[in-house]
This record gives sequence, C-alpha cells and structure tokens, in this order.
Amino acid sequence: MALGRTCPDRAPASALRGLRSPQPSGFPVLIDTHLHLDAADFDPDRAAALARAREAGVNEFVVPAVCRERFSRVLALAETTPGVFPALGIHPLYVGRAGESDLATLDELLAQGRAVAVGEIGLDYYVEGYDAARQQAFFAAQLKLARRYGLPAILHIRRAQDAVLAALRQIRPKGGIAHAFNGSFQQADAFIKLGFKLGFGGAVTFSGSRRLRRLAAELPLDAIVLETDAPDMPPVWARGERNMPENLLRVAQTLAGLRGIPFEELAEATSHNARAVLVLPEKSGFGRVRRDSKRK
Ligand SMILES: [Zn+2]
Repeated sequence: MALGRTCPDRAPASALRGLRSPQPSGFPVLIDTHLHLDAADFDPDRAAALARAREAGVNEFVVPAVCRERFSRVLALAETTPGVFPALGIHPLYVGRAGESDLATLDELLAQGRAVAVGEIGLDYYVEGYDAARQQAFFAAQLKLARRYGLPAILHIRRAQDAVLAALRQIRPKGGIAHAFNGSFQQADAFIKLGFKLGFGGAVTFSGSRRLRRLAAELPLDAIVLETDAPDMPPVWARGERNMPENLLRVAQTLAGLRGIPFEELAEATSHNARAVLVLPEKSGFGRVRRDSKRK
C-alpha cells in the first residue's frame, strides 16, 4: 500500500458480515499473497469482491495490516472469512505516528499465533521528507519480532533495496516475501539467498515495464509469488480504477505468457511457493491459522 499515511479504522463491524460463504475448491488455485482487503475501499462490496475472485480461481488471500489501528480488523476478517490469512505489522509510511506501545501490541498479538507473517514492514525512501532513522528502528524491531516468533516477513521496499538487505543480513528472520519486487537481478539473488520469495503483481502487465518484465520472466520459478496489492496497483486493463483480487488470474496468465510456460504450471508453482514461505495451512477454507506441529 503506497497511499495514505493516516491510519483510520473507518469501517463499521457490519461491513465484515456476510463473508462466510464456502468457497469452491478446484484447480487452479491461486494465492493472492498481498492485498488490503481491510481497506475501506472494499466496505461496499467486500463479499462480492471475494466471490468474484474465487470464481477466477483465487482462493487464498494474505492480508497484511499497515498499522495498529488495523490489526483487529485484519484479524476479524481472517476469523470470519475462509481462505483469508492475516499478517500484522507497521508499514514504513505509518511509523511517523506509531510508538513503543504499537510494537508492544504487535508483540502480544504475534504471541497468540494468529498471524501467518509479520507485515507489511520495510523501508520507503521514496516519499518526501521520510525519516530514515525512524523507519529503520521500526523495521529492525519488527524483524526481531519475526525472528523471535519464527514468522516470515512481508516487505515493502522503495528506493531501499540495499538498506533492507543489510537489515535482513544483520537480523536474519526466517525469510518471507519482498512485495512488489522491483530491484536488480543481483538484489533478487540476495533476497532469494536470505529465504525470500519475490512478489509480482499488476506492474508486470504494463508493456513499458521492461526491466520488471525481464525479472518476472527470468527469475527462477521457485522464487516467485503472485499478489495484487488491491485496491492499489491496478493492472493495465484497470488503470485508474480500484484494483480487485480477481485481477490476479490475468496477472498470472500474463506472467505465464512472459515465461512461455503453461498457466497451470505457473499457478501450481506460485501457490506452492506461497505456502512454503508463509506456512499456510495445506488446505484452506478454515480462515484461521493454527499453530501446530508444522511450524517450529
Ligand atoms: Zn501493500
């Protein structure tokens, strides 16, 4: 999520009702590893948006929180919605208003074992007037929490690839996802060696994104996961509109085309990669994470 630095919790609880419909299970199963389903943009039609995504074969959704005010909302969504998994973290664009107590709350919630990852966390040196030291402090503190709880990290990185890599090398969380990856091949390699998958979404659908498309086409298939970042980052066919999770299907088709492989192969590999790094339950449909013997 790139926009908006205030952290509202606008939606009424009623907006979360009606999401309990069972999902069809069938091939292909795609996993959207990054979308902001808790955003107020989805309040009018969240259940319908999910239903359309499922019709398109997108059956699992990882929803990272961006600030403390959204933690309970993201957790509630995951509790009530099959196939939705929560990540908890403080986004670099939200650290300005966050404090020690936000980290303490995050610590408590992670200890409860309800999150599949710590995120979305990271560094954003693109925004004007950013406070690098403050971003770094929150990033490091959250990476340490990820390491302590054995959780992967979902990373937001803008103009800060090397600074993020330096923090990872120092703190060594167990891995995770570099969301909306847009670095070099060399940086991609460094993330992969540190146990990270690289997230690709709507940006690869723009024919002008040559460098990104080359990355998406040439990086090892076992390093790639899919994401929409909905409601942000719309693909080329939805330019200027709200991005929707159902768009993941066409993003996946685009990526398969770029790589010259069958869609089914891409779908299977990226879903497998997402499960491997996020430790999602093997079978979805329960909407909550169980901390069991699979995670050590
Ligand atoms: Zn995001």
